Order: sequence, then structure tokens, then C-alpha cells
Amino acid sequence: MRRRQPLASLILLALVAAACSPAPTTTTATSPDVSTSSATTTTTTSANAAQSSTVGAAGIGDEYYPTLGNGGYDVEHYDLDLFYDPDDNTLDAAVIITAVATQDLTAFNLDFTGFDIVDLRVGDLPAMFERNAGELTITPEVPIASGERFEVTIAYAGNPTASSSPAFDRVAIGWREGPDGEQYIVAEPDAAHTWFPSNDHPLDKATFSFIVTVPDGYAVGATGEFLGIEPGHQVGETLSYTWEMSTPMAPYLATIVIGEGYQLVEDPVSSEAAGIPVRNFLPADLVANPPDALDDTGEMLTVLEEAFGPYPFDRYGITVVGGFPAALENQTFSVFGRVIVDSPFFEFVLVHELAHQWFGNSVSVAQWSDIWLNEGFATYSELLWIEHRQGRAVYDQVVADRRQAASTAGYAPPGLPPPTDLFNGGVYQLGGLLLADLRVEIGDDAFFTLLRTYAAQFAHGNATTQDFIAIAEDISGQDLDEFFQVRLYEPL
Ligand SMILES: [Zn+2]
Repeated sequence: MRRRQPLASLILLALVAAACSPAPTTTTATSPDVSTSSATTTTTTSANAAQSSTVGAAGIGDEYYPTLGNGGYDVEHYDLDLFYDPDDNTLDAAVIITAVATQDLTAFNLDFTGFDIVDLRVGDLPAMFERNAGELTITPEVPIASGERFEVTIAYAGNPTASSSPAFDRVAIGWREGPDGEQYIVAEPDAAHTWFPSNDHPLDKATFSFIVTVPDGYAVGATGEFLGIEPGHQVGETLSYTWEMSTPMAPYLATIVIGEGYQLVEDPVSSEAAGIPVRNFLPADLVANPPDALDDTGEMLTVLEEAFGPYPFDRYGITVVGGFPAALENQTFSVFGRVIVDSPFFEFVLVHELAHQWFGNSVSVAQWSDIWLNEGFATYSELLWIEHRQGRAVYDQVVADRRQAASTAGYAPPGLPPPTDLFNGGVYQLGGLLLADLRVEIGDDAFFTLLRTYAAQFAHGNATTQDFIAIAEDISGQDLDEFFQVRLYEPL
């Protein structure tokens, strides 16, 4: 559990004082209908009434990051209508969130930082709101009944910026700019709410629409399916690109990429091999000279489908950006830093991010502390690719080499990642080795049945370490408590 330092609390109070923002209405949020719920007889709208049963919780219940996500509703759909002007790095946005209340709500929170909120409505009515650090507390004019579907429309503007995460400090995340002016978003684990108001936790997945308007000459890629280009509705020569993600997605996996000279390029060979459309959104030099390993995408899809079961989405592809020293598995649209593409291990990062489409994106963590369920599985997929290409003997040697390297690395146990260093080497390397050991422990048949069963049973949902262990014991018929206890929670 992380606790605020006193200094942080003082800063937080100052932010509350500075950022309390009335909606564009001068009325207080008294309810016009006092008969629908006993709670509506009060005019109290303070977010400080956080324990009231009709105020949605300010966190969704993540033990590592208590303010991430929110309670009281489930988001069904995010409609993001964005105008980005590269001349002055400004974003004008209108976001419509469709949600269903899971309790009576006189107030509820979204996660959101940065930007100026220009207008905020619940349904057709302006709503009161307060901003307090990353929490946006909304008090609708008319309380929302449990089970009711409602829309929140938020218009906001400002300069998008990168941010740091409490989970790790090695790389700035959020909205980033590359050396050629390309704009892109890498938001794991908690930066979705730095570019759009959201219920920013993998427990609340939703479908997405992206309508992104940019000056002529720029192209836009995004997670999901590309639906087309229309003349922009902004002043001047602009184009609006529409993308749609019709499969539920955790907010952190949403991304857009805006770049001059970028093109969406179909990969017919990989599409044919995998039986799903593969398309990549690439800068001009890589359109002309695609990296060799990209040709392997279709074969990688085939190998991973054999191991994990059917690919969980309806398309795949990657994009390449400058200035980002890593890669991130955005849903159906992995983002690769150019330095990764130019490295000798690009092939293995390709298979790693692809594996995350099953483990991370379709089956998502319910608690960020279970991150080994993402990274251990994706790391193990690198070993499966080695086995496929080079045979079992080389696989065994690489497992042994990785175990040797891990033995002196001082990693935290993969089931106990430090909250301030969530993506430490333990969740990758020790998580991957755990799966290699499990395969030996229960045998190939049970092991791959387990992976396919786990991927299918929790598809497009969330799973915990205990869920995985329960299926492993069920399929193998073995008591694996000691096996997992040692490898997840004890030092190597
Ligand atoms: Zn990964």
C-alpha cells in the first residue's frame, strides 16, 4: 500500500483550492426530483462526502494504486473527437463517455489530469465538477439511478504532455513527441487519464471511437480498425481520420499516432499466413524499406495461436516512433521505438508484444500487482519462438542461460513487484522462467492445454494469479501450491 507523504498532501490541498472549477452554469446542483432517491433530498454536493453510499468511490480497488479507476459505474464506450494542431501543440477535445451506473449516484469520479475543461455535461445538462489532483468529481444535476445508462460529455483543451508514473520512472509515458514531430501515446500503466478523462484501470474495459482531425499532410493511426478519412470540420485544410475499437479495451491500451508522411501499409503475406488482416502504420523511410523481421508477423501469429489458442482480436499491426526506448502492446497496434526496431533483438520484441495481445490485452490483470501475468507470459513467448525456429535444444540452452543470469540479478520475486518499480526484471525473467518450469512440472500436454484454457476462459476480461493457479491445478491434477509459492513469492 502506498501512502501520501505530508508534503504531497499539502500540494494536493493547494490544487483543490486552485482547481475547483464550476461548470458553465451558475446554479447549484440541487435535484429537481426529490422523490427518486432519499439521497437526492440533500443539496450537498461535496466530493468530501466520499463515504456516502451514493457517491462513487475514487478508486476501483487496486491495492498498489488506490486512486486509479473509480467505482459506481461501468464504462461501455469512449467517443474521442480530437483536433490536434501541431503548430502550437494544442489539443481541442470532446469526449463522450457512455456508462452504466452500478449504484445510485449523486456524484462520481473520472480520472483526468491536465487541460482546461471547457464544458461538462451529464446527459444534456451542465454538471458541477471539481478537480483534485488526478480525480475529476462530477455532480450531475439529476442523480443517476443504479442500472441507468448515462452519457458524460467533456470538452477540454490545452497542451498534451508526457508524464511520469508512480509505477516506474525510467521512461516518461503519456503523450510523447518524437524527433520528427510525430505524436504518440504510450500509457501503461496509468497515463490514459493524462490525455482523456477515463476510468483508468484494466478492470473497466470499453469500446472506443477515435475521430482525430489534423492538418493536411499528417496521418493518424490508432488502435482498432481504420474506417476512413473525411474533410476536417476545423478551419483550414484539415482531415479527420476515424478509427474504431469494437472489442473491449483497457484505457491504457488506447493510442493514437500522428505523423507527417506516415502511411497505413497492408501486409498481405502475413495476413494470408495468419488469416487475419495485418497492417502497419509506418514512417516514410520504413514504408520504403520495411524491417526484415516484420515479414515474420504472420508466422509468429501462427506459432502463438498454436500455443495460446485463437488470436483474440480481428486485426494486428505495429507502428514505429522516434524517441521511445521501448515498445508497448497497444491493443491490435503495438508501438515500437525506433531504437528497438534497429536493434538485433527486434524479432524477439515483436513476438513479445504480439503475445501480449492474448496476455495483457485480452486477459488483463485485475490488480497491477499481478503484472507477471502479462510480462512473464510475453517473455515466455520469446522462448517459444526460439524453440520454433531453432529447436528444443537451443530453447533449453536459452532457458539455462536466462536462469543463470537471473540468479545474480537480485530481482524481486515476480509475485511481489515493488509498487515504485512495477516493471522490474523479475516480472519478466522470473515470470518467464516460472512458465518454463511449469511446463516441465506438468508436461507439455497439460501445459499448453492450461495456456489455451486460461486465454479462453478469461478472454476480454480480467484474471488474477489465483485464477491461473486454480486452472493449472485443475488441468494437471497436481497440487501446485508449493511450486507457485516458491517461484512467485520467494527470492531466487
Ligand atoms: Zn511486455
